[in-house]
Amino acid sequence: MLKMKFLLFLFINILSFSLWAATPAPKATPKSTTTPTLNQVSGMVSPQKDARLVRIPSKYANKTEYIQKNVLPDLERMILAARKDGVNLRVISAFRSYNHQKNLWQRKWQQTSGNDKTRLQAVLRYSSPPAFSRHHWGSDVDLNSLKPSYWASADGKKTLRWLQKNARKFGFCQVYSQGRKKGHDEEVWHWSHVRSARPYYQIRAKTIKQVKHINLSGSHVLTPELLKTYLSSIQNCGL
Ligand SMILES: [Zn+2]
Repeated sequence: MLKMKFLLFLFINILSFSLWAATPAPKATPKSTTTPTLNQVSGMVSPQKDARLVRIPSKYANKTEYIQKNVLPDLERMILAARKDGVNLRVISAFRSYNHQKNLWQRKWQQTSGNDKTRLQAVLRYSSPPAFSRHHWGSDVDLNSLKPSYWASADGKKTLRWLQKNARKFGFCQVYSQGRKKGHDEEVWHWSHVRSARPYYQIRAKTIKQVKHINLSGSHVLTPELLKTYLSSIQNCGL
């Protein structure tokens, strides 16, 4: 009887050891930032089908907007913290596709006069050509208003002061800040989640020469050197 019990004990132990040995080692948690593809860097994706992107809850945005999954929690925390301080933040533009950016570019080009070089300079003050907008990346948002009159109002000034003091705590930076010598003009409404933008930025910087703009107004005066200047003349808030 004792022998039987011992054999049973041995059997159970061997069985549990082999079960333990057969269990695969836990996999390392997948990196939250996988390398973006060239299409993703250029906005050539459908936001509904891209697994990196999620819809911004409608209470935080004026229309249907998409953003990187990784950015949404920080955006939400920032909006709620601002609200506690009496500052109301709303997203007016987040992810943009290549075609969306192309339409914006073409419209601005039509509205601008002069020779092609002056036109280009004027459009580049506040707009990037398609494939070069940070809005393709789902890491950047425009907040509250694009109108200078809003940002000159008491409400706008209070909002900007709050953002300039606090956005960094949530990973956001005013990339087109005041006082840069080159690149786009200051944009007080444009805030970038720098950590989430970085892998996209790095790929875009490396692949500028590969981008060919077919049927884009002004493309014959857009040089890779010029594009590189506009891409890289940014502030990153040390993030
Ligand atoms: Zn913007």
